[in-house]
Amino acid sequence: MARFPGVDYMLIDSQFNEEELLVRQTARHFVDDCVMPVVRDSFNNGKFPSELIPEMGRLGFFGANLEGYGCVGMSNVEYGLIMQELERGDSGVRSFVSVQGALVMYPLLTYGSDEQKERWLPRLQTGSAIGCFGLTEPMFGSNPAGMKTTAQRDGSGWVLNGEKTWITNGTMADVAIVWARAEDGIRGFVVEKGTAGFTASDIHGKLSMRASVTSSLSLSDCRLPKSAMLPGAKGLKGPLACLSQARYGIGWGVIGAAMDCYETARSYSVLRKQFDDRPIASHQLVQEKLAWMITEITKAQLLALQAGRLKDQGRLDPAHVSMLKRNNAWMALECARLSRDLMGANGIIDDYPIMRHLCNLETVKTYEGTDHIHTLVIGERVTGVSAYM
Ligand SMILES: Cc1cc2nc3c(=O)[nH]c(=O)nc-3n(C[C@H](O)[C@H](O)[C@H](O)COP(=O)(O)OP(=O)(O)OC[C@H]3O[C@@H](n4cnc5c(N)ncnc54)[C@H](O)[C@@H]3O)c2cc1C
Repeated sequence: MARFPGVDYMLIDSQFNEEELLVRQTARHFVDDCVMPVVRDSFNNGKFPSELIPEMGRLGFFGANLEGYGCVGMSNVEYGLIMQELERGDSGVRSFVSVQGALVMYPLLTYGSDEQKERWLPRLQTGSAIGCFGLTEPMFGSNPAGMKTTAQRDGSGWVLNGEKTWITNGTMADVAIVWARAEDGIRGFVVEKGTAGFTASDIHGKLSMRASVTSSLSLSDCRLPKSAMLPGAKGLKGPLACLSQARYGIGWGVIGAAMDCYETARSYSVLRKQFDDRPIASHQLVQEKLAWMITEITKAQLLALQAGRLKDQGRLDPAHVSMLKRNNAWMALECARLSRDLMGANGIIDDYPIMRHLCNLETVKTYEGTDHIHTLVIGERVTGVSAYM
C-alpha cells in the first residue's frame, strides 16, 4: 500500500516535535495499511469495520490524550494528529474513536466515581468494551437544554424514561452515557447494555457516515442503581464539556479528509488530459481551485496547531473550539466539493474517496454543534450578546 505523503505547503511539520511526528506516522501507517483497504466496502455496505477496533486499542488511540486507567496520556497535539490521520481514512472511523475517547471515557474519567472508572475505563481503552453518548433527542438537537428524558428517584435508585436519537455506536455499545433531566438539573448516567427497559436500534437509510453505526436509544422505565449516576456532572455544562473535547478532535480530523480530497484531485489534474492533450492542471480555472484548497488547508492546519498548543497549556476555551470546528469542517466540505468538481464524472465513483468524504462531511458540518450554532458561539464571544433565540 502506497504511503500517504502528507500535505505541508507552509513547512508546518517544522513546528512538530519528534514524538508528535512519530505518533502521526504510526497513525498514518495504520490508516494506509488497515483502514484504506477496507473502508470503501465498509461504506458501501453500511457497516462499521469493527475488525479495526483491537489494533486501534493496542495503538492507544482510545482516550489517547487522557491519563490513568491504561490511557497513554499523549499531548493534545499528538491526539489531534491521530484524529487527522483517522479521518483521512474515513470520518466514520474517526467518529468511533472520538465517541469512545471524548464522549465516553472523558466523562467517566472527569465525572465518574472510582467504581465507574475502574469498571469501564480499562476495557474502553483497549476497545474490549465500546461506549456511546446519548444527548440528542428527536425534538432537541441544537438545543439539548430542552431535553425531555427524565431521571426520577426510585427508592435509592433511578428510573429513566425518554428517547435519544442519532447516537453513534448505539447498538454496538456495551455502555451508554445517557443525559437526563433530574430534579436538580441535567445529570449523566452510566447505562449498561442489557439493562431492562433500555434498548437500541439502528437508523437505516443514511447516505452519509455509512461506515459508522448510528442508532436510537429508548429508555422505558429503565431502573438503575444509585451508583449509575455520574457524581461529578451537574447541569448542561457536563455534556457540553464532553462535546468540547470531541469538537477539538473534529477540528483536526477534518483536515485529514480535506488532505485526501485535495491530494487525490491534485494528482488527478496533472494526469488527466483534455483539449490538445494538455493536463487539466494547465488551466487557470483548475489551478485556482487547487490554490484555494491548499491555502485553506494550510490555514486550517495552523488553526488546529494553535488550538492544540493552547489546549496543552490549559488555555483553550469552548469559544476557541467553536472557531476550530466551524472553520475546519466548512473548509473540508468545500475542498471535497471542489475536488469532486475537478475530477469530473470520475469524482462521483467510489474508485476515489472524494464522494465518500463529501457525504461524510455533510454530517460533520451538522453534528457536535452545527455551523450555525458555532457561528453564534463566536458571535456571542465577540459581542457579549447571545443570539440563540
Ligand atoms: C451521523 C450522526 C451521528 C451523531 N452522533 C451523535 C451522538 O453520538 N450523540 C448525540 O447525542 N448526538 C449525535 N448526533 C446528533 C447531532 O449532534 C445533531 O444532529 C446536531 O446537534 C443537530 O441537531 P438536529 O439534527 O436536531 O438539527 P436542528 O437542531 O433541528 O437544526 C436544524 C437546522 O436549524 C439550525 N438551527 C437550529 N437552531 C438554530 C439557532 N438558534 N440559530 C440558527 N440556526 C439554528 C441548525 O443550525 C440547522 O441548520 C449525530 C448526528 C449525526 C447525523
